[in-house]
Amino acid sequence: MDGLTPVPLTMGRSTRTATLEQRLALAASELVCSGRGCDTPLVMSDIHHIVAFANGGRTDIENLTIACRP
Ligand SMILES: [Zn+2]
Repeated sequence: MDGLTPVPLTMGRSTRTATLEQRLALAASELVCSGRGCDTPLVMSDIHHIVAFANGGRTDIENLTIACRP
């Protein structure tokens, strides 16, 4: 939960795709691609797992980040 609403920000392994609430949380906290020196905005980027879902990564807010396609 995000502490203010009953919306879960941890989805575990139940879904690979970030939820709308997770996307909004990332937009509020990161705004742009998390690549070093990169300032590509979220609207031109994707949500990625830090530990890949294929490698057992969870779809939890702590394991998600904004990354541009290049
Ligand atoms: Zn980038």
